[in-house]
Amino acid sequence: RPRVLSGIQPTADSFHLGNFLGALKQWVALQEDFDPFFFIADLHSITMPHDPKLLRERTLVSVAQLLAAGVDPDRATIFVQSQVPAHTQASWVLECLTGFGEARRMTQFKDKSAKGGEGAASVGLFTYPILQAADILLYRPQYVPVGEDQRQHLELTRDLAQRFNKRFKKTFRVPEPYILESTAKIYDLQLPEKQMSKSIGGNGCIWLLDDPKASAKKIRSAVTDSETEIRFDLENKRGVSNLLNIHAALSGAKIDDLVASFEGKGYGDLKAEVAQVVVDFVTPFRNRVHDLLEDRSELETILAAGADRATEVSEATLRDVYERVGFLPRA
Ligand code: ATP
Ligand code: MG
Repeated sequence: RPRVLSGIQPTADSFHLGNFLGALKQWVALQEDFDPFFFIADLHSITMPHDPKLLRERTLVSVAQLLAAGVDPDRATIFVQSQVPAHTQASWVLECLTGFGEARRMTQFKDKSAKGGEGAASVGLFTYPILQAADILLYRPQYVPVGEDQRQHLELTRDLAQRFNKRFKKTFRVPEPYILESTAKIYDLQLPEKQMSKSIGGNGCIWLLDDPKASAKKIRSAVTDSETEIRFDLENKRGVSNLLNIHAALSGAKIDDLVASFEGKGYGDLKAEVAQVVVDFVTPFRNRVHDLLEDRSELETILAAGADRATEVSEATLRDVYERVGFLPRA
């Protein structure tokens, strides 16, 4: 089975609907035909100021959400990034192959450092995409399932793999992006020009672990437009299309059928129905997460097994990398 790899940051108390539809749900589908490695990217989550106690808690709650979404530890390798040392080790080597200007072009650094200014941002935030390249390349995956937002980082990963292979010897596999177009992007309910994200949060973001009633309310107050017609048109009717997308992705209905079923109805009807679909999804999801968190030692056992397998695979690649760049092996 072809190898795939993907990670998610434990940077909030809960994942949101965009994370679920753009990442977790895809991960579950991938375990059917692939050999997946899924990890909680805790190393990445300290690039911005953070609270250590919260990070530890969120890491475990993230794992519970993966399992609640249906990621199966018997078919997927689930691990915590900081428990597998090869990631930071390979990252250093790749940093030395990355041009300063090349790293500077990454738009996520520009976005996230915009607030406090470049001087306030950490060097870690700047080199983050290189660590991400290491995360990926160590496992020599064929595919990397990513949302649209991660395309640019994957391009850097591919460039670095090719550069290393050319400068030294073929070591890395050059991975392909794997994007599910239909649900690739969920937009913020209040700012539909932006994608739903943990860093924006607020009333436009549906947190999976929030009170379902609060989520229903957010859907009912979603921003739409000044027309009345319900049709799918991302360009001109982003808010309405986003609601249709959310409905279709969670209920399994086809967009065309949904649009037909709302003929002659108004935005209020659409919102009420989407709110119900969301509540029907998050209610059992949340219960499953709470059940899983009852037995933390079981989660830790799953992570220990995942870290063992991830270490085995990543160490083998790191050995090749170290040998090829000319590091003297320990006797
Ligand atoms: P941050 O604001 O810190 O960047 P985020 O909400 O964008 O957080 P990430 O940790 O960057 O979340 O992304 C985790 C995964 O979820 C990635 O695979 C990403 O592509 C996917 N993802 C994030 N937001 C969305 C969204 N709105 N729609 C679809 N997929 C998303
Ligand atoms: Mg993001």
